[in-house]
Amino acid sequence: MNHYVLVLNCGSSSLKFSVVNPDNGDEPFKGIAERLNTNETGSLTIKTANSKQQTDLTPSTHEQALLEIVQALKNQGLAESISAVGHRVVHGGEYFSQSVVIDDSVRDKIADCIRLAPLHNPAHVTGIDAARKAFPNLTQVAVFDTAFHQQMPEKAYLYALPYELYQRHGIRRYGFHGTSFRYISAQLPQCLGIEKPKAVVCHLGNGGSLAAIDGDHSLDTTMGLTPLEGLVHGTRSGDIDPAIPTLLCQQNGMTPDSVSDLLWKQSGLLGLSGISNDCRTLEEALEQGNEAAQRAMHVYCYRLAKLIAAQVVALGGLDALVFTGGIGENSSYVRSQAVKALGFLGLHIDASKNDATIRGKQENIASAESLPIWVIPTNEEWLIAHDAHQLAQGKTL
Ligand code: ADP
Repeated sequence: MNHYVLVLNCGSSSLKFSVVNPDNGDEPFKGIAERLNTNETGSLTIKTANSKQQTDLTPSTHEQALLEIVQALKNQGLAESISAVGHRVVHGGEYFSQSVVIDDSVRDKIADCIRLAPLHNPAHVTGIDAARKAFPNLTQVAVFDTAFHQQMPEKAYLYALPYELYQRHGIRRYGFHGTSFRYISAQLPQCLGIEKPKAVVCHLGNGGSLAAIDGDHSLDTTMGLTPLEGLVHGTRSGDIDPAIPTLLCQQNGMTPDSVSDLLWKQSGLLGLSGISNDCRTLEEALEQGNEAAQRAMHVYCYRLAKLIAAQVVALGGLDALVFTGGIGENSSYVRSQAVKALGFLGLHIDASKNDATIRGKQENIASAESLPIWVIPTNEEWLIAHDAHQLAQGKTL
């Protein structure tokens, strides 16, 4: 019998789920529950190899979604094949440097990290509690976005704030997208033929971050205490002068909540363009000569190039540049514009390889005289399934 892992990614109003084969990453059953805990009717969408079903969800809660997922797994004859549940958890603070089996103490530490990730961790705790009820006999494993970065040196993770804020409140750089960075770092030795390569990896999705990866760990990364810092994101600002939020409150009559909404939801590509947070839409507008789209994409690509160069400092050398995530895997425009500014680092793109490498292709898109520039599709679900399966069997990672 197959041993599948149910991978759960719980947000405040959504629950993404996927049944993953930990050996090869196959996903025979996946979907999303949406509009949870809102005034609207919730919905549950389930996709299998040959069907897609959408139903209303009442009550629209994480608990109800899991009950219906369990029922659908039984109907599909998959329930008995699930050997573990893997939870994607955004913030593990300094508690977790690798994936762990969830017990009461782990659950409480994830709850304690709510102070560091108030937008994400509350939903993870809700999801974990609901999943422990729905699958009382299965091992549940937490896989943290922050874990991969826990070996960063102090000089990379400290902010120049009173040290006491770090000591008493844990205010420091944690970094995110760790599951994706770990997946990519595991592929790199084979791609490059180097056992412990030094690589700058760009995970570019709706949120984007870079990591300076030395073999199997990061030495620096661009996201910080929260996933707001660093690159220009879809709707998030990325780096700004830290005086701006105070100034907006003092001079523009904004409240802390409205500033937060502005920085998280109305900025980034959306704020700069006034058109969309979606890179595809902006590239289409750019082709039509739209100036607002051009402005947004220019800021995006310039910031990306600048931060790539900064990550090379952390590594003290470079064996390869890597692109991944929805934008990194698909936007030959973003890749070419960013790398155009990095010739001084020995990075040059081959235009035709770049244009051909989209939609899940894995390829070195560098020209002959360049350091390697790889596009590698990421697979966070597979890594979560791998960790959950290993730990459920009592093995080490
Ligand atoms: P998330 O961070 O939500 O996981 P993804 O990694 O799926 O996001 O990335 C979403 C981003 O990828 C969006 O900005 C989307 O426009 C972009 N993207 C997807 N396909 C393409 C494409 N063919 N060309 C350019 N951008 C793309």
